[in-house]
Amino acid sequence: MLKNNYHTHMRFCNHAKGDVIDYVKYANELGMEELGMSDHGPIPLNHHMTDEEYKALYCYENMNLDVFELYLNQIEDAQLKYPNMRILKALECEYLYDNDKWYENLRKRLDYMILGVHFYEYENHMIDTYKDLNYDNVYSYVENVNRALSTGLYDYLAHPDLFFFEYKDKDGNWTFDQRCKDVTNKLIDLAVKYDVYFEINCNGVRFAKNKDDINMWRYPNIEFFKIVKEYQDKNPNKLKLILGCDAHQPEALDNENVKAVLKFVEDLGLKVLTKIEL
Ligand SMILES: [Zn+2]
Ligand SMILES: [Zn+2]
Repeated sequence: MLKNNYHTHMRFCNHAKGDVIDYVKYANELGMEELGMSDHGPIPLNHHMTDEEYKALYCYENMNLDVFELYLNQIEDAQLKYPNMRILKALECEYLYDNDKWYENLRKRLDYMILGVHFYEYENHMIDTYKDLNYDNVYSYVENVNRALSTGLYDYLAHPDLFFFEYKDKDGNWTFDQRCKDVTNKLIDLAVKYDVYFEINCNGVRFAKNKDDINMWRYPNIEFFKIVKEYQDKNPNKLKLILGCDAHQPEALDNENVKAVLKFVEDLGLKVLTKIEL
């Protein structure tokens, strides 16, 4: 079980279950010490997406700005009710271009902000990280991460290996090729440069091509984290690696996916931090 978790979703995003208090109550019962509430943050109103893109990318499955205050209030109430726990205010946001002020205004109200690149703009259209990445365009993912982190607004990079979800190499195969290795190294360098937490995500196991074979996991991905391990061996204590439940219901704070990822981390010999410093 994790003592602390900083990646948590609630009903505000329209695709997770529970209010803040439901999570805090359950986490307290489990004996957890810290819980960061990080629901999917509001999409900027003047984004560059067409209506079709907005729908295809499930943008309505993000918090509406109207409920942001209620969300913050719920966190403050939980902090008062459970003073024995450290409960933090956060959001997981994308990074859409030309909207720095929007993200800045959200970040001001939070203890930390997570970057989750589920989609982004590239050459006047939207890239869906789950579906659209291939040999020709995969470096655009790094470019989005770079531009997001360079704003200094983000503190934590969620599921950095998400680019491999449906990646297609030169021959159209799902292979962790040299480009994927380059992307991995570039992402590590960016996380170190901008001093952000780098996540091993526990929620990806459910999408595995075969759950029982770790070579068939999309994320967390074994090839990706072997490179992370090599980096850690050469550069101790430089990369701030952290586990995140990415819970979409309270029970996911401690389920079989969390256990499977803890074993993955142990088998690879990765060194993870258990607590985030603000
Ligand atoms: Zn979600
Ligand atoms: Zn998330």
